[in-house]
Order: sequence, then C-alpha cells, then structure tokens
Amino acid sequence: MSSTESAFGRLFQQLIELDVIKIDTEPLDARIERRLKEFWESSPCPRCGNQRIVTWENTDRIWCRDCDFKPVYTYGTPFHEKHLTCGEILLAFTLYADTLLSINQIAPLLDRAYKTVYTAVLNHHTAAG
Ligand SMILES: [Zn+2]
Repeated sequence: MSSTESAFGRLFQQLIELDVIKIDTEPLDARIERRLKEFWESSPCPRCGNQRIVTWENTDRIWCRDCDFKPVYTYGTPFHEKHLTCGEILLAFTLYADTLLSINQIAPLLDRAYKTVYTAVLNHHTAAG
C-alpha cells in the first residue's frame, strides 16, 4: 500500500475488506459501455439528426445508417477525450448515464477533479445542439 493513498482510498479499502462494497471493475466498465450504447440506440445522430444509430458489442464505434457517421461510443458525453483518472471517469460516467445530474450536482462528488469535470460538462452543454 502506498503512503500517499488518499483518505477516500483507505475508507474504500476498509469497506471492501468489511465486505460492504464489492468492486469488480470489468463488468462495471462493460455495463457503462452497454448503457452508453443503449443511450445511442435511442438517440438522434449528432450529425444528421436521424434516429438510425446502431451499436455492436465488440467495437467501441457506433454507426449512423443514414449519414455514415462513426464516432466512438463516448462521443458527445462530457467526458469524451477528457483527462480524468480511471476511477473518476467511471464515477462520472455512471452519474452522467444513470442520472443525468447537472454539473452542480456531480462536481462536488468529485472534489479533486472539480475543475476538470466542470469544464468538461460545461463545454458539453455549450456545444450541445
Ligand atoms: Zn447520421
């Protein structure tokens, strides 16, 4: 264990050891990916506006059948190509995909990454449409 481990990290470790929380990141990552892909399948294409987007399980690309737009499935989310750590991305994606909380609600939960998350979500809302 690193001596620079955060208080949150230690608390988290204790909760896992006490069997309060079980973390298995692989299915969690897969679940976030699946959820974002489901979101795309029911959303209009960001390029042409038609609701004809298809996704596949084994590729990170999504595809619009009408205009041939093929972005990665994280396209258009506040955290696309942003520099957050894995845990922060995971948490942010989960919050964003599950709740569509506002930046004012998400940012305080990610104290250390507040500015990054704030900027990311703000840019997303500004660029939307
Ligand atoms: Zn399209």
